[in-house]
Amino acid sequence: MLRTKEQFQEDLFRMKSNIYIDGEQIGRDDHRIRPGINVLGITFDLALDPKYNGLATATSTVTGQKINRWAHLPQNPYDLMQKQKLIRIGARRAGGCIQRCMGHDGLNALAICTKEMDEKFGTDYHQRFLNYLKLYHENDWDACCAQTDSKGDRLKRPSRQNDPDAYVHIVEERKDGIVVSGYKMSITQAPYADEIIVVPTRALMEEDRDYAVAFAVPADQEGVSLVTRPVWLRDKDEKKAAPFCKYGGSDCVVIFDNVFIPKERVFMCKEWQFGRRIALLFADSHRHSYSGCKPAVSDVLCGATALAAEANNIQKVSHVKEKLSEFASAAELAFAAGIAAAVYGEKTSSGVFFPNKIYANVGRKLTGELIYHEYNLLTEIAGGIIATMPFKGDFEKGDNKDRLMKFIVRNPKLSPEESLKIWKFVENVGASSMASWYQVAGVHGGGSPIMETIALNLDYDFEDKKALARYLAGIDEELDDSKLLNQEPTFGKQLV
Ligand SMILES: Cc1cc2nc3c(=O)[nH]c(=O)nc-3n(C[C@H](O)[C@H](O)[C@H](O)COP(=O)(O)OP(=O)(O)OC[C@H]3O[C@@H](n4cnc5c(N)ncnc54)[C@H](O)[C@@H]3O)c2cc1C
Repeated sequence: MLRTKEQFQEDLFRMKSNIYIDGEQIGRDDHRIRPGINVLGITFDLALDPKYNGLATATSTVTGQKINRWAHLPQNPYDLMQKQKLIRIGARRAGGCIQRCMGHDGLNALAICTKEMDEKFGTDYHQRFLNYLKLYHENDWDACCAQTDSKGDRLKRPSRQNDPDAYVHIVEERKDGIVVSGYKMSITQAPYADEIIVVPTRALMEEDRDYAVAFAVPADQEGVSLVTRPVWLRDKDEKKAAPFCKYGGSDCVVIFDNVFIPKERVFMCKEWQFGRRIALLFADSHRHSYSGCKPAVSDVLCGATALAAEANNIQKVSHVKEKLSEFASAAELAFAAGIAAAVYGEKTSSGVFFPNKIYANVGRKLTGELIYHEYNLLTEIAGGIIATMPFKGDFEKGDNKDRLMKFIVRNPKLSPEESLKIWKFVENVGASSMASWYQVAGVHGGGSPIMETIALNLDYDFEDKKALARYLAGIDEELDDSKLLNQEPTFGKQLV
Protein backbone atom coordinates (compact mmCIF):
# COMPACT_ATOMS: atom_id res chain seq x y z
CA MET A 1 0.00 0.00 0.00
CA LEU A 2 1.14 3.53 -0.75
CA ARG A 3 -0.50 6.37 1.19
CA THR A 4 -1.04 9.82 -0.20
CA LYS A 5 0.36 12.69 1.81
CA GLU A 6 -3.22 13.61 2.70
CA GLN A 7 -3.85 10.13 4.12
CA PHE A 8 -0.59 10.33 6.05
CA GLN A 9 -1.69 13.65 7.52
CA GLU A 10 -5.18 12.38 8.40
CA ASP A 11 -3.60 9.46 10.26
CA LEU A 12 -1.30 11.85 12.12
CA PHE A 13 -4.14 14.14 13.13
CA ARG A 14 -6.03 11.16 14.59
CA MET A 15 -3.16 10.40 16.99
CA LYS A 16 -3.35 11.25 20.69
CA SER A 17 -1.85 14.54 21.77
CA ASN A 18 1.51 13.89 23.43
CA ILE A 19 3.54 16.78 21.98
CA TYR A 20 4.83 19.73 24.03
CA ILE A 21 6.24 22.99 22.68
CA ASP A 22 7.36 25.85 24.87
CA GLY A 23 5.53 24.49 27.90
CA GLU A 24 2.21 23.84 26.15
CA GLN A 25 0.63 20.55 25.15
CA ILE A 26 -0.40 20.75 21.49
CA GLY A 27 -1.94 18.59 18.75
CA ARG A 28 -0.24 17.37 15.60
CA ASP A 29 -2.24 19.97 13.66
CA ASP A 30 -0.30 22.81 15.35
CA HIS A 31 1.18 25.15 12.71
CA ARG A 32 4.67 24.78 14.15
CA ILE A 33 4.71 21.10 13.18
CA ARG A 34 3.47 21.83 9.66
CA PRO A 35 6.87 22.57 7.96
CA GLY A 36 8.06 19.08 8.91
CA ILE A 37 4.85 17.44 7.70
CA ASN A 38 5.35 19.27 4.39
CA VAL A 39 8.80 17.70 4.04
CA LEU A 40 7.42 14.21 4.60
CA GLY A 41 4.72 15.05 2.05
CA ILE A 42 7.45 15.14 -0.61
CA THR A 43 8.40 11.55 0.21
CA PHE A 44 4.80 10.37 -0.20
CA ASP A 45 4.34 12.36 -3.43
CA LEU A 46 7.49 10.93 -5.02
CA ALA A 47 6.40 7.34 -4.32
CA LEU A 48 3.09 7.94 -6.12
CA ASP A 49 4.59 9.76 -9.10
CA PRO A 50 5.07 7.33 -12.03
CA LYS A 51 8.20 9.25 -13.01
CA TYR A 52 9.91 7.99 -9.86
CA ASN A 53 8.61 4.44 -9.98
CA GLY A 54 11.43 2.05 -9.00
CA LEU A 55 13.41 4.91 -7.46
CA ALA A 56 11.00 6.15 -4.79
CA THR A 57 9.39 2.69 -4.64
CA ALA A 58 10.67 -0.86 -4.24
CA THR A 59 9.24 -4.36 -3.94
CA SER A 60 8.64 -5.51 -0.38
CA THR A 61 10.74 -8.52 0.63
CA VAL A 62 7.94 -9.62 2.98
CA THR A 63 4.71 -8.96 1.04
CA GLY A 64 5.91 -8.82 -2.57
CA GLN A 65 3.93 -5.58 -2.94
CA LYS A 66 5.08 -2.17 -4.10
CA ILE A 67 6.24 -0.09 -1.13
CA ASN A 68 7.86 3.24 -0.43
CA ARG A 69 11.63 2.83 -0.72
CA TRP A 70 11.98 4.31 2.76
CA ALA A 71 10.49 1.10 4.15
CA HIS A 72 12.65 -1.19 2.01
CA LEU A 73 15.55 -3.39 3.14
CA PRO A 74 18.27 -3.00 0.45
CA GLN A 75 19.07 -6.33 -1.21
CA ASN A 76 21.99 -5.35 -3.46
CA PRO A 77 24.32 -2.46 -4.36
CA TYR A 78 21.77 -1.04 -6.78
CA ASP A 79 19.21 -0.71 -3.97
CA LEU A 80 21.72 1.28 -1.93
CA MET A 81 22.52 3.54 -4.86
CA GLN A 82 18.82 4.06 -5.54
CA LYS A 83 18.34 5.09 -1.91
CA GLN A 84 21.23 7.52 -2.20
CA LYS A 85 19.84 9.03 -5.39
CA LEU A 86 16.34 9.27 -3.90
CA ILE A 87 17.66 11.15 -0.86
CA ARG A 88 19.45 13.64 -3.09
CA ILE A 89 16.38 14.18 -5.28
CA GLY A 90 14.01 14.55 -2.32
CA ALA A 91 16.36 16.73 -0.30
CA ARG A 92 16.88 19.10 -3.23
CA ARG A 93 13.12 19.67 -3.29
CA ALA A 94 12.91 20.26 0.44
CA GLY A 95 16.02 22.45 0.35
CA GLY A 96 17.65 20.06 2.84
CA CYS A 97 17.00 17.14 5.19
CA ILE A 98 14.28 14.82 3.89
CA GLN A 99 13.99 13.22 7.36
CA ARG A 100 13.04 9.72 6.21
CA CYS A 101 16.46 8.04 6.32
CA MET A 102 16.60 7.57 10.12
CA GLY A 103 13.61 5.22 10.09
CA HIS A 104 15.04 3.38 7.09
CA ASP A 105 18.41 2.99 8.79
CA GLY A 106 16.72 1.86 12.02
CA LEU A 107 14.77 -0.85 10.17
CA ASN A 108 17.97 -2.08 8.54
CA ALA A 109 19.82 -2.23 11.84
CA LEU A 110 16.98 -4.27 13.36
CA ALA A 111 16.76 -6.63 10.37
CA ILE A 112 20.47 -7.49 10.51
CA CYS A 113 20.92 -7.54 14.29
CA THR A 114 17.83 -9.64 15.07
CA LYS A 115 19.10 -12.31 12.67
CA GLU A 116 22.59 -12.30 14.20
CA MET A 117 21.22 -12.47 17.77
CA ASP A 118 19.07 -15.47 16.80
CA GLU A 119 22.14 -17.16 15.31
CA LYS A 120 24.05 -16.69 18.57
CA PHE A 121 21.34 -17.17 21.19
CA GLY A 122 18.63 -19.21 19.46
CA THR A 123 16.08 -16.44 20.04
CA ASP A 124 13.21 -15.65 17.64
CA TYR A 125 13.72 -11.91 17.21
CA HIS A 126 14.14 -11.98 13.43
CA GLN A 127 10.74 -13.55 12.73
CA ARG A 128 9.20 -11.09 15.19
CA PHE A 129 10.85 -8.27 13.29
CA LEU A 130 9.63 -9.62 9.94
CA ASN A 131 6.07 -9.79 11.32
CA TYR A 132 6.40 -6.17 12.37
CA LEU A 133 7.89 -5.22 8.99
CA LYS A 134 4.90 -6.78 7.25
CA LEU A 135 2.58 -4.47 9.19
CA TYR A 136 4.92 -1.59 8.43
CA HIS A 137 4.72 -2.30 4.70
CA GLU A 138 1.00 -2.99 4.67
CA ASN A 139 0.26 0.31 6.42
CA ASP A 140 2.95 2.35 4.60
CA TRP A 141 4.21 3.57 7.98
CA ASP A 142 6.87 6.15 8.55
CA ALA A 143 9.21 5.90 11.55
CA CYS A 144 11.82 8.09 13.13
CA CYS A 145 14.75 6.41 14.85
CA ALA A 146 15.58 7.22 18.46
CA GLN A 147 19.13 6.12 19.09
CA THR A 148 20.74 9.06 20.95
CA ASP A 149 20.18 8.83 24.71
CA SER A 150 20.50 11.96 26.84
CA LYS A 151 23.61 10.22 28.25
CA GLY A 152 24.13 12.32 31.40
CA ASP A 153 27.76 12.25 32.53
CA ARG A 154 29.67 11.32 29.39
CA LEU A 155 32.40 9.55 31.33
CA LYS A 156 30.02 7.14 33.09
CA ARG A 157 28.54 3.95 31.68
CA PRO A 158 24.72 3.73 31.46
CA SER A 159 24.41 1.61 34.61
CA ARG A 160 26.67 4.00 36.58
CA GLN A 161 24.70 7.20 35.88
CA ASN A 162 23.19 9.06 38.85
CA ASP A 163 19.89 9.18 36.97
CA PRO A 164 19.06 5.77 35.45
CA ASP A 165 16.82 7.53 32.91
CA ALA A 166 19.87 9.09 31.22
CA TYR A 167 19.67 6.02 28.96
CA VAL A 168 16.47 4.24 27.94
CA HIS A 169 16.30 0.96 29.87
CA ILE A 170 14.12 -1.96 30.84
CA VAL A 171 12.33 -1.34 34.13
CA GLU A 172 10.36 -4.57 34.20
CA GLU A 173 10.22 -7.77 32.17
CA ARG A 174 6.80 -9.41 31.88
CA LYS A 175 5.59 -12.52 30.07
CA ASP A 176 3.80 -10.42 27.46
CA GLY A 177 6.39 -7.67 27.04
CA ILE A 178 8.63 -5.15 28.78
CA VAL A 179 8.27 -1.81 30.53
CA VAL A 180 10.81 0.89 29.60
CA SER A 181 11.79 4.32 30.92
CA GLY A 182 14.36 6.97 30.03
CA TYR A 183 15.15 9.85 27.70
CA LYS A 184 16.23 9.91 24.07
CA MET A 185 17.19 13.31 22.65
CA SER A 186 17.70 15.20 19.36
CA ILE A 187 15.20 12.86 17.72
CA THR A 188 14.25 14.33 14.36
CA GLN A 189 10.75 13.91 12.98
CA ALA A 190 9.20 12.21 16.06
CA PRO A 191 6.09 14.49 16.29
CA TYR A 192 5.04 13.63 12.74
CA ALA A 193 6.07 9.97 12.64
CA ASP A 194 3.69 7.03 12.90
CA GLU A 195 6.25 4.98 14.78
CA ILE A 196 9.39 5.41 16.86
CA ILE A 197 12.15 2.81 16.42
CA VAL A 198 14.41 2.64 19.47
CA VAL A 199 17.94 1.21 19.45
CA PRO A 200 20.89 1.53 21.89
CA THR A 201 23.43 4.26 21.30
CA ARG A 202 26.66 2.63 22.45
CA ALA A 203 28.65 -0.49 23.29
CA LEU A 204 27.43 -2.09 26.52
CA MET A 205 28.85 -4.33 29.22
CA GLU A 206 27.12 -7.00 31.24
CA GLU A 207 26.33 -4.55 34.02
CA ASP A 208 24.45 -2.46 31.42
CA ARG A 209 22.21 -5.34 30.32
CA ASP A 210 18.98 -3.49 31.19
CA TYR A 211 20.07 -0.85 28.67
CA ALA A 212 20.36 -3.38 25.84
CA VAL A 213 16.91 -2.79 24.45
CA ALA A 214 15.45 -2.27 20.98
CA PHE A 215 11.80 -1.93 20.11
CA ALA A 216 9.21 -0.11 18.00
CA VAL A 217 6.38 1.89 19.47
CA PRO A 218 3.53 4.03 18.05
CA ALA A 219 4.63 7.65 18.46
CA ASP A 220 1.57 8.45 20.61
CA GLN A 221 1.83 5.41 22.90
CA GLU A 222 0.67 5.87 26.49
CA GLY A 223 3.63 7.11 28.57
CA VAL A 224 5.56 8.60 25.61
CA SER A 225 5.97 12.41 25.63
CA LEU A 226 7.56 14.35 22.79
CA VAL A 227 9.08 17.64 23.94
CA THR A 228 9.48 19.27 20.57
CA ARG A 229 11.69 21.99 19.19
CA PRO A 230 10.54 23.04 15.73
CA VAL A 231 12.94 24.76 13.35
CA TRP A 232 12.04 26.82 10.30
CA LEU A 233 13.41 29.13 7.75
CA ARG A 234 12.99 32.77 8.67
CA ASP A 235 10.14 33.37 6.24
CA LYS A 236 7.30 31.01 7.08
CA ASP A 237 4.30 32.75 5.58
CA GLU A 238 3.19 29.82 3.44
CA LYS A 239 0.84 31.79 1.25
CA LYS A 240 3.41 34.31 0.10
CA ALA A 241 6.70 32.46 0.46
CA ALA A 242 8.64 30.52 -2.16
CA PRO A 243 8.27 26.70 -2.13
CA PHE A 244 11.49 26.49 -0.15
CA CYS A 245 9.93 28.37 2.77
CA LYS A 246 7.22 25.76 3.35
CA TYR A 247 9.75 23.36 4.77
CA GLY A 248 11.38 22.78 8.13
CA GLY A 249 11.60 20.16 10.81
CA SER A 250 11.36 19.29 14.48
CA ASP A 251 13.58 17.48 16.94
CA CYS A 252 12.44 16.03 20.23
CA VAL A 253 13.38 14.93 23.66
CA VAL A 254 11.45 11.66 23.76
CA ILE A 255 10.48 10.80 27.32
CA PHE A 256 9.55 7.19 28.08
CA ASP A 257 7.77 6.99 31.41
CA ASN A 258 7.08 3.35 32.28
CA VAL A 259 5.95 2.54 28.75
CA PHE A 260 4.67 -0.99 28.11
CA ILE A 261 6.07 -2.56 24.91
CA PRO A 262 4.28 -5.76 23.88
CA LYS A 263 6.56 -8.71 23.16
CA GLU A 264 5.90 -8.70 19.42
CA ARG A 265 7.46 -5.23 19.23
CA VAL A 266 10.57 -6.03 21.31
CA PHE A 267 13.64 -6.76 19.18
CA MET A 268 16.41 -6.83 21.79
CA CYS A 269 15.97 -7.57 25.46
CA LYS A 270 19.17 -7.54 27.54
CA GLU A 271 21.53 -8.99 24.87
CA TRP A 272 24.24 -6.52 25.94
CA GLN A 273 26.82 -8.28 23.73
CA PHE A 274 25.05 -6.77 20.68
CA GLY A 275 24.93 -3.18 21.97
CA ARG A 276 27.90 -2.05 19.92
CA ARG A 277 26.80 -4.04 16.86
CA ILE A 278 23.30 -2.58 16.65
CA ALA A 279 24.53 0.94 17.44
CA LEU A 280 27.05 0.74 14.61
CA LEU A 281 24.60 -0.87 12.20
CA PHE A 282 22.30 2.13 12.57
CA ALA A 283 25.17 4.64 12.50
CA ASP A 284 26.95 3.14 9.48
CA SER A 285 23.72 2.80 7.50
CA HIS A 286 22.97 6.42 8.41
CA ARG A 287 26.41 7.53 7.27
CA HIS A 288 25.70 5.95 3.91
CA SER A 289 22.37 7.82 3.76
CA TYR A 290 24.37 10.97 4.39
CA SER A 291 26.13 10.40 1.05
CA GLY A 292 22.76 11.25 -0.53
CA CYS A 293 21.72 14.18 1.66
CA LYS A 294 25.09 15.89 1.95
CA PRO A 295 25.31 16.40 -1.85
CA ALA A 296 21.83 17.93 -1.76
CA VAL A 297 22.77 20.34 1.05
CA SER A 298 25.91 21.30 -0.90
CA ASP A 299 23.75 21.71 -4.05
CA VAL A 300 21.50 24.16 -2.19
CA LEU A 301 24.43 26.11 -0.74
CA CYS A 302 26.18 26.14 -4.12
CA GLY A 303 23.03 27.36 -5.86
CA ALA A 304 22.47 30.09 -3.25
CA THR A 305 26.10 31.20 -3.56
CA ALA A 306 25.95 31.28 -7.39
CA LEU A 307 22.71 33.27 -7.25
CA ALA A 308 24.14 35.70 -4.69
CA ALA A 309 27.19 36.17 -6.92
CA GLU A 310 24.90 36.96 -9.83
CA ALA A 311 22.84 39.38 -7.76
CA ASN A 312 26.09 41.13 -6.77
CA ASN A 313 27.19 40.99 -10.43
CA ILE A 314 30.45 39.26 -9.47
CA GLN A 315 29.69 35.88 -11.01
CA LYS A 316 32.56 36.07 -13.52
CA VAL A 317 35.21 37.06 -10.99
CA SER A 318 37.92 34.40 -10.64
CA HIS A 319 37.78 33.97 -6.85
CA VAL A 320 34.03 33.35 -7.10
CA LYS A 321 34.54 30.63 -9.69
CA GLU A 322 37.20 29.02 -7.54
CA LYS A 323 34.90 29.08 -4.51
CA LEU A 324 32.00 27.56 -6.42
CA SER A 325 34.22 24.64 -7.42
CA GLU A 326 34.64 23.80 -3.74
CA PHE A 327 30.93 23.00 -3.49
CA ALA A 328 31.29 20.65 -6.42
CA SER A 329 34.11 18.85 -4.61
CA ALA A 330 32.13 18.51 -1.37
CA ALA A 331 28.95 17.31 -3.04
CA GLU A 332 30.46 14.84 -5.46
CA LEU A 333 33.05 13.48 -3.03
CA ALA A 334 30.19 12.57 -0.68
CA PHE A 335 28.20 11.06 -3.54
CA ALA A 336 31.21 9.08 -4.79
CA ALA A 337 31.86 7.71 -1.30
CA GLY A 338 28.24 6.52 -1.22
CA ILE A 339 28.60 4.74 -4.54
CA ALA A 340 31.87 3.12 -3.41
CA ALA A 341 30.19 2.04 -0.15
CA ALA A 342 27.37 0.45 -2.17
CA VAL A 343 29.60 -1.27 -4.73
CA TYR A 344 31.94 -2.66 -2.06
CA GLY A 345 29.16 -3.47 0.40
CA GLU A 346 28.32 -6.89 1.83
CA LYS A 347 25.40 -9.28 2.01
CA THR A 348 24.54 -9.92 5.66
CA SER A 349 23.05 -13.18 6.93
CA SER A 350 19.64 -11.49 7.09
CA GLY A 351 19.76 -10.94 3.31
CA VAL A 352 20.06 -7.18 3.82
CA PHE A 353 22.80 -5.63 1.71
CA PHE A 354 24.95 -3.36 3.88
CA PRO A 355 27.24 -0.51 2.76
CA ASN A 356 31.00 -0.78 3.10
CA LYS A 357 31.81 0.79 6.45
CA ILE A 358 35.11 2.40 5.47
CA TYR A 359 33.70 4.30 2.50
CA ALA A 360 30.52 5.27 4.37
CA ASN A 361 32.54 6.67 7.29
CA VAL A 362 35.18 8.41 5.18
CA GLY A 363 32.52 10.19 3.13
CA ARG A 364 30.61 11.31 6.21
CA LYS A 365 33.73 12.43 8.07
CA LEU A 366 35.38 14.46 5.34
CA THR A 367 32.32 16.11 3.88
CA GLY A 368 30.45 16.63 7.18
CA GLU A 369 33.35 18.60 8.58
CA LEU A 370 33.27 20.88 5.51
CA ILE A 371 29.90 22.32 6.45
CA TYR A 372 31.06 25.51 8.19
CA HIS A 373 33.50 26.14 5.36
CA GLU A 374 30.66 25.93 2.84
CA TYR A 375 28.57 28.44 4.82
CA ASN A 376 31.64 30.64 4.98
CA LEU A 377 31.89 30.60 1.18
CA LEU A 378 28.25 31.69 0.90
CA THR A 379 28.68 34.42 3.52
CA GLU A 380 31.82 35.74 1.87
CA ILE A 381 30.26 36.02 -1.58
CA ALA A 382 26.84 37.27 -0.46
CA GLY A 383 28.15 40.05 1.79
CA GLY A 384 26.63 41.43 5.00
CA ILE A 385 23.12 41.65 3.56
CA ILE A 386 22.70 37.98 4.41
CA ALA A 387 22.28 38.95 8.09
CA THR A 388 21.15 42.58 8.01
CA MET A 389 18.42 42.75 5.40
CA PRO A 390 15.16 44.45 6.47
CA PHE A 391 12.08 42.28 6.92
CA LYS A 392 9.96 41.49 3.88
CA GLY A 393 7.11 43.76 5.05
CA ASP A 394 9.31 46.82 4.65
CA PHE A 395 9.54 46.07 0.95
CA GLU A 396 5.79 45.55 0.64
CA LYS A 397 4.23 48.36 2.64
CA GLY A 398 4.97 51.58 4.53
CA ASP A 399 6.78 54.80 3.67
CA ASN A 400 10.03 53.23 2.48
CA LYS A 401 8.83 50.50 0.18
CA ASP A 402 9.56 52.26 -3.14
CA ARG A 403 13.06 53.28 -2.09
CA LEU A 404 13.79 49.82 -0.73
CA MET A 405 12.69 48.17 -3.98
CA LYS A 406 15.30 50.35 -5.74
CA PHE A 407 17.88 49.69 -3.03
CA ILE A 408 17.62 45.94 -3.35
CA VAL A 409 18.80 45.89 -6.99
CA ARG A 410 22.56 45.48 -7.39
CA ASN A 411 22.84 43.77 -10.76
CA PRO A 412 20.92 45.95 -13.27
CA LYS A 413 19.99 42.85 -15.27
CA LEU A 414 17.76 41.66 -12.41
CA SER A 415 14.35 43.15 -11.64
CA PRO A 416 13.58 44.46 -8.12
CA GLU A 417 11.16 41.55 -7.57
CA GLU A 418 13.76 38.95 -8.60
CA SER A 419 16.45 40.65 -6.54
CA LEU A 420 14.23 40.66 -3.46
CA LYS A 421 13.42 36.96 -3.91
CA ILE A 422 17.09 36.11 -4.34
CA TRP A 423 18.21 37.96 -1.22
CA LYS A 424 15.38 36.58 0.91
CA PHE A 425 16.28 33.09 -0.29
CA VAL A 426 19.98 33.64 0.44
CA GLU A 427 19.12 35.01 3.90
CA ASN A 428 17.00 31.94 4.61
CA VAL A 429 19.67 29.53 3.42
CA GLY A 430 22.58 31.28 5.11
CA ALA A 431 21.40 33.15 8.18
CA SER A 432 18.24 31.62 9.64
CA SER A 433 17.67 29.27 12.55
CA MET A 434 17.45 26.56 9.89
CA ALA A 435 20.98 27.46 8.72
CA SER A 436 22.32 26.90 12.25
CA TRP A 437 20.47 23.59 12.38
CA TYR A 438 22.24 22.43 9.19
CA GLN A 439 25.60 23.52 10.54
CA VAL A 440 25.20 21.53 13.74
CA ALA A 441 23.64 18.62 11.84
CA GLY A 442 26.67 18.59 9.53
CA VAL A 443 28.95 18.09 12.52
CA HIS A 444 26.89 15.85 14.83
CA GLY A 445 24.05 14.27 12.83
CA GLY A 446 24.83 10.59 12.28
CA GLY A 447 27.50 10.77 14.98
CA SER A 448 30.14 13.33 15.97
CA PRO A 449 33.39 13.34 13.91
CA ILE A 450 35.15 11.40 16.66
CA MET A 451 32.65 8.56 16.17
CA GLU A 452 33.65 8.25 12.53
CA THR A 453 37.28 8.32 13.59
CA ILE A 454 36.60 5.49 16.03
CA ALA A 455 34.75 3.54 13.32
CA LEU A 456 37.71 3.98 10.96
CA ASN A 457 40.17 2.97 13.66
CA LEU A 458 38.14 -0.19 14.21
CA ASP A 459 37.97 -1.26 10.59
CA TYR A 460 40.77 0.36 8.62
CA ASP A 461 43.83 -1.79 7.93
CA PHE A 462 46.70 0.33 9.29
CA GLU A 463 48.95 -2.75 9.55
CA ASP A 464 48.79 -3.05 5.77
CA LYS A 465 50.14 0.50 5.43
CA LYS A 466 52.90 -0.21 7.93
CA ALA A 467 53.88 -3.33 5.97
CA LEU A 468 54.06 -1.20 2.83
CA ALA A 469 56.37 1.27 4.58
CA ARG A 470 58.57 -1.59 5.81
CA TYR A 471 58.85 -2.88 2.24
CA LEU A 472 59.66 0.55 0.81
CA ALA A 473 62.18 1.13 3.58
CA GLY A 474 63.95 -2.07 2.60
CA ILE A 475 63.18 -3.91 5.87
CA ASP A 476 60.94 -6.57 4.30
CA GLU A 477 61.58 -8.13 0.92
CA GLU A 478 58.04 -9.12 0.01
CA LEU A 479 55.06 -6.83 -0.47
CA ASP A 480 51.72 -8.50 0.21
CA ASP A 481 49.10 -6.89 -2.01
CA SER A 482 46.66 -9.80 -1.89
CA LYS A 483 43.96 -7.79 -0.11
CA LEU A 484 43.90 -5.10 -2.78
CA LEU A 485 44.16 -7.73 -5.48
CA ASN A 486 41.18 -9.62 -4.09
CA GLN A 487 39.05 -6.54 -3.44
CA GLU A 488 36.18 -7.10 -5.86
CA PRO A 489 33.07 -5.01 -6.15
CA THR A 490 30.20 -7.07 -4.81
CA PHE A 491 28.49 -8.73 -7.76
CA GLY A 492 31.68 -7.59 -9.57
CA LYS A 493 31.61 -10.20 -12.31
CA GLN A 494 28.02 -9.28 -13.13
CA LEU A 495 29.07 -5.66 -13.56
CA VAL A 496 31.49 -6.54 -16.36
C1 LIG B 1 20.25 18.17 13.76
C2 LIG B 1 20.41 16.87 14.45
C3 LIG B 1 19.51 15.84 14.21
C4 LIG B 1 19.63 14.62 14.88
N1 LIG B 1 18.71 13.63 14.67
C5 LIG B 1 18.83 12.46 15.35
C6 LIG B 1 17.85 11.42 15.19
O1 LIG B 1 16.91 11.55 14.42
N2 LIG B 1 17.99 10.28 15.92
C7 LIG B 1 19.03 10.09 16.79
O2 LIG B 1 19.10 9.05 17.42
N3 LIG B 1 19.96 11.08 16.98
C8 LIG B 1 19.88 12.24 16.29
N4 LIG B 1 20.81 13.23 16.48
C9 LIG B 1 21.82 13.05 17.51
C10 LIG B 1 23.23 12.82 17.01
O3 LIG B 1 23.39 11.49 16.58
C11 LIG B 1 24.16 13.17 18.19
O4 LIG B 1 24.12 14.58 18.33
C12 LIG B 1 25.58 12.69 18.01
O5 LIG B 1 25.63 11.29 18.02
C13 LIG B 1 26.46 13.24 19.13
O6 LIG B 1 25.92 12.93 20.39
P1 LIG B 1 25.67 14.09 21.45
O7 LIG B 1 24.88 15.17 20.80
O8 LIG B 1 25.11 13.45 22.66
O9 LIG B 1 27.09 14.69 21.73
P2 LIG B 1 28.18 14.08 22.72
O10 LIG B 1 28.29 12.60 22.50
O11 LIG B 1 27.95 14.56 24.08
O12 LIG B 1 29.48 14.74 22.14
C14 LIG B 1 29.99 16.01 22.58
C15 LIG B 1 31.51 15.90 22.69
O13 LIG B 1 31.83 15.07 23.80
C16 LIG B 1 32.75 14.07 23.40
N5 LIG B 1 32.50 12.87 24.20
C17 LIG B 1 31.30 12.30 24.47
N6 LIG B 1 31.46 11.21 25.24
C18 LIG B 1 32.78 11.09 25.47
C19 LIG B 1 33.57 10.15 26.19
N7 LIG B 1 33.05 9.12 26.86
N8 LIG B 1 34.91 10.33 26.20
C20 LIG B 1 35.47 11.37 25.54
N9 LIG B 1 34.77 12.29 24.84
C21 LIG B 1 33.44 12.15 24.80
C22 LIG B 1 32.43 13.85 21.92
O14 LIG B 1 33.52 13.29 21.25
C23 LIG B 1 32.14 15.27 21.46
O15 LIG B 1 33.34 15.92 21.16
C24 LIG B 1 20.69 14.44 15.80
C25 LIG B 1 21.61 15.48 16.02
C26 LIG B 1 21.48 16.67 15.35
C27 LIG B 1 22.47 17.76 15.63
